[in-house]
Amino acid sequence: MRRLINFSAVIALVALAASCSPKIAITAHRGYWNCEEAGFAENSIKSLELAQKNNLWGSEFDVHITSDLVLVVHHDRDIQGKSIHTHDYADFKDYRLKNGEKLPTLDEYLAQGEKGGTVLVFELKQQYDKAHEDYMVDKSIEALKRHGLFDPKKVIFISFSRNICDRIAALCPGFTNQYLSGDMSPDEVLAKGVNGIDYHYNVFRKNPGWVGQAHKNKMSVNVWTVDKEEDIKEMVGLGVDCITTNEPLRVRQILGGKEKKY
Ligand code: MG
Repeated sequence: MRRLINFSAVIALVALAASCSPKIAITAHRGYWNCEEAGFAENSIKSLELAQKNNLWGSEFDVHITSDLVLVVHHDRDIQGKSIHTHDYADFKDYRLKNGEKLPTLDEYLAQGEKGGTVLVFELKQQYDKAHEDYMVDKSIEALKRHGLFDPKKVIFISFSRNICDRIAALCPGFTNQYLSGDMSPDEVLAKGVNGIDYHYNVFRKNPGWVGQAHKNKMSVNVWTVDKEEDIKEMVGLGVDCITTNEPLRVRQILGGKEKKY
């Protein structure tokens, strides 16, 4: 009888420990694009829809601004050799993504985001000058408000640009705001008023203490772009809060019960 009680106590303790260990979120990098159903089209509206449908915690996307100040969802600075910031939106209207979709404007993309089911991980791409970056931040906030998405539970911001992170910190208090470049320690990032980091996994590999330093500062820790099993397991072991990946279902399989869902 005594042995039975001890055994039950051990089981209860293991269950308690498992329930207390922090869960890890998955963010689909440029949406859940790496599959037939999305037509392998990054930053497509379909890739966002699939992140929502698969109940992934987050879906990342990239935003640039055209010369006539239209925000578009696209990773590179150029489209078919045309620089986005020196061309009008009309110059890109016939461009098609790999799956046949047109180039999404931010408004079109957010119309899908409004349907919910995943956090929008909004990357504001670095621009050539401060004025364009500032305008991009301001127009992004306006767009999020128009779509009822200006809510820290529905969107987080990420950027390689210190200027953009500074402006988000000033204009979006209460929102998660993660710096991407990896060239500052969490203490240094926090001193600038920015409350999170999203670094390449090699940065954490070189500075494994930065995860703990960030957590001590109550900063969120995201890592990109982690696709290989050994790298995923290494980042899980370091205790990051979120893994950004092109292989969300592989990360899901590895995390099992440790996955934080939307
Ligand atoms: Mg990005």
